[in-house]
Amino acid sequence: MRFQTKLIHGNWKGDTKTGATNVPIYYSNAYSHQTAEELEDIFIGKEAGYVYTRIANPTVEAFERRIATLERGVAAIATSSGMAAIYLAFMNVLLPGDEVIASSGIFGGTYDLLKNLIEYNIHVKFVDDLDEDTLNREITPKTKIVFSETIGNPKLDVLDIEKVGQICQEKNVLFIVDSTVTSPYLIKPLEYGVDIVIHSTSKYINGTSNAIGGIIVDGGSKKFYSEKFPEFKEYTKRFKRFAFTAKLRNGIGKDLGAIMSPMNSFLNLTGIETLALRMKAHCENTLKVAEYLENHPKVAFVNYPNLKSSKYYNIAKKYYKKGTGSILTFRLGSKEKAFHFINNLKLIYNLPNIGDTKSVIIHPASTICAKNTKEEKEQMGVYEDLVRLSVGIEDVEDIIEDIESSLANI
Ligand SMILES: *Cc1c(COP(=O)(O)O)cnc(C)c1O
Repeated sequence: MRFQTKLIHGNWKGDTKTGATNVPIYYSNAYSHQTAEELEDIFIGKEAGYVYTRIANPTVEAFERRIATLERGVAAIATSSGMAAIYLAFMNVLLPGDEVIASSGIFGGTYDLLKNLIEYNIHVKFVDDLDEDTLNREITPKTKIVFSETIGNPKLDVLDIEKVGQICQEKNVLFIVDSTVTSPYLIKPLEYGVDIVIHSTSKYINGTSNAIGGIIVDGGSKKFYSEKFPEFKEYTKRFKRFAFTAKLRNGIGKDLGAIMSPMNSFLNLTGIETLALRMKAHCENTLKVAEYLENHPKVAFVNYPNLKSSKYYNIAKKYYKKGTGSILTFRLGSKEKAFHFINNLKLIYNLPNIGDTKSVIIHPASTICAKNTKEEKEQMGVYEDLVRLSVGIEDVEDIIEDIESSLANI
């Protein structure tokens, strides 16, 4: 089955009882069984089945299976938000005293989450470039995870995913990647040595911004068999390549209960059918808007990896043959001008989101990154005069006209 077909039919053949083509929404907290023996068997994992929706739900499971097949993973776990997915994936692996190396160009919420892990005595080192020299210098025997986004939001630095994958393989360190900004349409990170892929499904996967959610895709890494991860020993014995998922479902996932709701899973299953069509339109529109902005005298600097002027152009061409998504940033000379520009827009919404069918803009320095220091902001590619635009799939002429008339007023 090819990608577009999988978006619609992946791991789902219709409801056998009713013939319904859409996955039914199972709005039931618990599931009854004929005998106490039957319930016992499901509870202790001897038999497959449903007992309680915090543990498993058929609608949520259908969504998990759809994403797992799209990413070519062995399994996936849907969560209540993208942040929950990141937290659960990390805490399924980390113990006090462990170290993490993370790209500094990542999403502000993730940056804060990782910084706060110090409260559990987990040390996260933020680095500007995940290159060979940096990794060889920073990886120690305590390093358990290297983390990055495929393309940083909002820094828009493009990860050399294959290279980092090789180094993590040599050093036996887990490689976890947040692919929210690229979606499975633009890249499948598991093909490049990544062990775990995370998405905020709130963005492209859902597509129309009607459900917050996240997903963790398990690549079935063999690294969990090694001495470095002794707490996975029992799980690799019993669940083989599903060790990571089994430990998460039986441990912190069940304990925290930060699951995706059946309704949100249904909305995501509906949204994802059009992922390829939307991503194609996002990429086409964004390149046109980026080229327009680059030629505008009032715009100081446009950052979009698919522009020839980008320092990431060559690496973007290597990994992203279909485009680099909907996010671009540009600078307008001062915070006042940036605010003025946003205030004058008529079509483009001013809000903290990306990957929506609608075009949306924000001034990150005063919002998403307001709590970060000036140095941290610059590490994240955020400046006082910078705005982040996520280009929607409206007619591109309307988007450009909105930008044009607002620029005329600043
Ligand atoms: C939005 C976002 C998140 C957080 O996801 P939520 O669903 O908002 O919790 C994580 N990573 C990236 C790259 C994001 O854009």
